Amino acid sequence: MSFTWSAAPVRKMILSVSEPAVRAWIPLGRHLVDVNALIGKALRLEWPGMAECQSCHGVFSELHAQGFCRKCFFDSPMAGASIVRPELSTAHLGKADRDLEFERAYQLQPHTVYLADSGGIKVGVTRTRQQVTRWLDQGATCARVIAVTENRYEAGLIEVALKQHFSDKTDWRKMLAGLEFSADFDGAVARALEAIPTDLQRFALADGTDHRAHWSLAPGFTAKSVKLSQPGDVLEGVLAGQRGQYLAFTDGRVINVRSHEGLFLGLQG
Ligand SMILES: [Zn+2]
Repeated sequence: MSFTWSAAPVRKMILSVSEPAVRAWIPLGRHLVDVNALIGKALRLEWPGMAECQSCHGVFSELHAQGFCRKCFFDSPMAGASIVRPELSTAHLGKADRDLEFERAYQLQPHTVYLADSGGIKVGVTRTRQQVTRWLDQGATCARVIAVTENRYEAGLIEVALKQHFSDKTDWRKMLAGLEFSADFDGAVARALEAIPTDLQRFALADGTDHRAHWSLAPGFTAKSVKLSQPGDVLEGVLAGQRGQYLAFTDGRVINVRSHEGLFLGLQG
């Protein structure tokens, strides 16, 4: 082991399109750990215990869900209904879910509806200024913007219509296996554009450009997901590569860094 990072709250990986592969960093406390430099090397992750809520920044023995303590999960606008289901947005009506000021700032800005190939074609919604981050977080090899709306609610309505034709979930096993459906991508985009409801067609973007990413994890990977769920849990292995929010080890185990957000992780490499 050539370095040790003492336990600090982990955040989802920061990803950046690069060649020959996407670059990834793990924010750990005030440090950024360079993932690409660790590929092919032994790595040890440990959760000694304790976690920080991403909303109130309080420290707890465990978090309730999605990086939030119990109180924030049920009270914070960062965990409100429209975060997961954009069609439930109400700020455009001047109506609060949890905190109207937060929801106005979050929902009343341009949103992107996209199709991505991440082990299968999926539809998704993201704030336009976040769009590249979102596709990379999902491990996509290709993504295309099919609509840009004025707010989150409109994007949510388009997504609901497109869910009848495409999944809105990433199949992480297929994504990590490196399956691609690129041959169908143009056809899928054409079907998606047609499926946008008539009253929302004004937001459609017929000439979106493809955004592509190559990943360090080689195709053909058979993944077995593991989680550090009990204080003292350790994951140790040789890092095979990285894709989306996953670190993949040579023995097939994978860990989703995002689903550990807030845990005080220690890292040795
Ligand atoms: Zn909290």
